[in-house]
Amino acid sequence: MSTSSSTVAVVGAGIAGLSAAIRLRIAGKEVIVFEQNSYTGGKVTAFEKEGFRFDMGPSLFTLPHLVDELFELAGKNPREYFNYHTHDEVCRYFWEDGTKLTLFPSIEKNVAAVSSVFGPSEGGKLFDYFEMARRKYDLTAPFFLEKSLHSARTFLTPKVLKVLAEIPKLGLFSTLNEENEKVFNAPKLVQLFNRYATYNGSSPFQTPGIMQMITHLEHSLGTHFPVGGMHEISQSLTRLAVELGVRFELDTRVEEFIIENHEITGLVAGEKIWTIDQLVCNSDVKYAYKHLMPKQVKRPKKTLAQEPSSSALIFYWGLSEQFPEMDLHNIIFSEDYREEFENIRTNGPFWEDPTVYIHISNRLEPGDAPENKDCWFVMVNTPYDQGQDWEAIVPLVREKVLERISKALGTAVEPLIEVEEVLRPQDIEKRTSSVGGALYGTSSNERMAAFLRHSNKSNSIKGLYFCGGSAHPGGGVPLCLLSGKIAAQWLVNDD
Ligand SMILES: Cc1cc2nc3c(=O)[nH]c(=O)nc-3n(C[C@H](O)[C@H](O)[C@H](O)COP(=O)(O)OP(=O)(O)OC[C@H]3O[C@@H](n4cnc5c(N)ncnc54)[C@H](O)[C@@H]3O)c2cc1C
Repeated sequence: MSTSSSTVAVVGAGIAGLSAAIRLRIAGKEVIVFEQNSYTGGKVTAFEKEGFRFDMGPSLFTLPHLVDELFELAGKNPREYFNYHTHDEVCRYFWEDGTKLTLFPSIEKNVAAVSSVFGPSEGGKLFDYFEMARRKYDLTAPFFLEKSLHSARTFLTPKVLKVLAEIPKLGLFSTLNEENEKVFNAPKLVQLFNRYATYNGSSPFQTPGIMQMITHLEHSLGTHFPVGGMHEISQSLTRLAVELGVRFELDTRVEEFIIENHEITGLVAGEKIWTIDQLVCNSDVKYAYKHLMPKQVKRPKKTLAQEPSSSALIFYWGLSEQFPEMDLHNIIFSEDYREEFENIRTNGPFWEDPTVYIHISNRLEPGDAPENKDCWFVMVNTPYDQGQDWEAIVPLVREKVLERISKALGTAVEPLIEVEEVLRPQDIEKRTSSVGGALYGTSSNERMAAFLRHSNKSNSIKGLYFCGGSAHPGGGVPLCLLSGKIAAQWLVNDD
């Protein structure tokens, strides 16, 4: 083995790794990003097939200022690298009994839409509901999302006392479903607002009511979609990183971290020992402790015992027709949401009554599909991979999904499928080393989940930092951008 030296190694070019690498480079560090794939972005990637372009992973894009912030920090105009549409609809909802509802990033339009379907008394409740979601978001985001929960500095401010005083009202001691049932009489509205638990791979029947704050993001802060598709988030950040002088070692799997006297000193990758001063790990925390960390390193037992978030089965379908009744984001709900999530949690037959999410990027990016055709990203939430027989499960899900969509549209969809690919939980694990193919790292099904997520800094190994969906503050593109930010800030402060 030959030896080579560097300053900060970032292990993984996921969204959090890119966010950390850019910030560290701007702070004057020599940065090398090691990525086992031939491409950057991790879950935020895409593919093309026979004239259709599909984003493989995320499709919902919130808080675009967190992407812009990285360009601005580098003294660049974000619009020269990355742009996005602001859309006038949040989502179209369909139920088995034929009920339909479209929601918007506008309180007045939402009140009108909900009133016309569920009556004015339900519609009128939205004013208070979104105001409460805003309050929860504004109170907690600066502490729970934007700062480390493992640093005394976060808590030693007068503003935290205000948050602590509000804790009984935040919904930490009840579930999202319980909180929503307190507000809405229409079970379909409870179901609709319960769905926000899936934004971090959790169950609305277990995750705390504070998750109501997620509704604030799309309904009040706006619904966005990147020009060029979600993939442009990772690709524009990669272009920026390269321009700033971040070095990428693609197709290079890190095999082991080298730790001497409780301090990171190097890593093994590509049959070489690399001498490094610090390391930011963007690899899944469970994977890192199992495969990358030397045996003598103490394992954080409670953190590693955390349940992975849910995973998903995704069908990418190129259709020979367009369906104008479908927009950018569409959901066809299951009949029994509680049963569906219980099945996901307990590894039961979730395919018997799944909620189906359909994302059609060519509504805003017409080049994603040939003329008069549609490219559909069709997703069903599933348990994380525990060795289930996916070969047997996939056809069962496919059949039920086709039945559900065809009923909602009044058209048989299967004969229209020209192009098809499938992504299963074990494929997600293989492509990103995320344990069980979890979409969002660990789930937020426990009340204290936020505090059990891995810290952005190792408390036993000097020079070792963590970012990504399985570290604080959790999964999803915006939180991963913040995770990279907190890890990089901590590293720079330690210097
Ligand atoms: C199907 C799907 C739908 C989703 N939908 C949404 C959505 O709509 N909105 C949203 O905000 N989020 C969504 N998410 C979640 C979001 O994509 C993730 O939370 C986020 O992208 C994870 O970023 P990350 O930084 O944790 O890294 P990851 O994307 O997990 O990437 C980690 C990277 O590290 C690399 N790596 C790991 N170990 C090593 C090693 N030993 N050596 C070298 N490289 C290594 C991997 O190859 C990978 O590239 C979705 C995810 C999926 C899969």
